[in-house]
Amino acid sequence: MQNLSHCFICGSKSFRELFQKSSPAGFSFTLKKCRSCSLEFLDPLPDEDDIAKYYGQEYFSKRTDRGYDDYFSSQLRREIERVIKLNLGDIGFFKYEKKLGPVKRSLDIGCAAGYFVNYLKERQWDSYGIDISAECVNFAKNTLKLNVERENYLKAQFNAKFDLITLWATIEHLHHPDLIIEKALHDLKPGGCLYISTCRTGFNFKIFQRAKWRYYNFPEHIFYFSSTNMTRLLEEKGFTVKKIFTYGSGFGNAGTMLRTCADFIARQFFMGDMMVIAAQKELQEIRESECIQPDPLKSYALQ
Ligand SMILES: [Zn+2]
Repeated sequence: MQNLSHCFICGSKSFRELFQKSSPAGFSFTLKKCRSCSLEFLDPLPDEDDIAKYYGQEYFSKRTDRGYDDYFSSQLRREIERVIKLNLGDIGFFKYEKKLGPVKRSLDIGCAAGYFVNYLKERQWDSYGIDISAECVNFAKNTLKLNVERENYLKAQFNAKFDLITLWATIEHLHHPDLIIEKALHDLKPGGCLYISTCRTGFNFKIFQRAKWRYYNFPEHIFYFSSTNMTRLLEEKGFTVKKIFTYGSGFGNAGTMLRTCADFIARQFFMGDMMVIAAQKELQEIRESECIQPDPLKSYALQ
């Protein structure tokens, strides 16, 4: 177990304790919050090597409040595709896709069973995925016949750059979000896009649920971002944030009128406890050596 020594977004070492909660295995975790940028994180951080065991077969096939009922069922697959299509429309994906040439490459990090990889493949993308779950990767490779590998993204090497990299509900699970974003910038073509969806802290429907918030699943979720600190992280790593929208309330029971109304308000008024962000790599990276430094003496002479 490790502790975060300083915030990787703002560098602060000043944290506030929010509350403690136990994992199903009985380990106690404290949720801490950076006093400067409001990043929330688990203390201690769960061991990186132990994380894969949380995403074994049960996570994807057994009904719990943490994983999925049956991730491999066609019903859940259709539901995931429906949500993805909604998100893609809102984030401007279809307009972006139209501008690309015939060869389009994508990478989905934390692709699970590969449904998004498959969705893009059906749209004629050269689509790839990586995940740490052996069960998911086997399903994606053997049943859906996709280009999916079981790999740690930070160690993965690719022979060509991508037009699109996606992290659908994945970054909150990962130990080094800052390094992931840095590598994504490197692995994208100039002008390429990064889409991130993640649960969202800050002013939203979460405030009614506090420690019972539906996404406070310890220790699967390690980091919790706000739209502000995520934007800051992306911009500091060199991305331009193009669009952010939020959705989801978790308010009331699923299928009720109350939930429908709360979800509507969440989407319309930036009150969702989920957010989707589109960030773009600059078309041309300006190297420092290429910048023309004004000569102060010359400027003076011209006046
Ligand atoms: Zn911070």
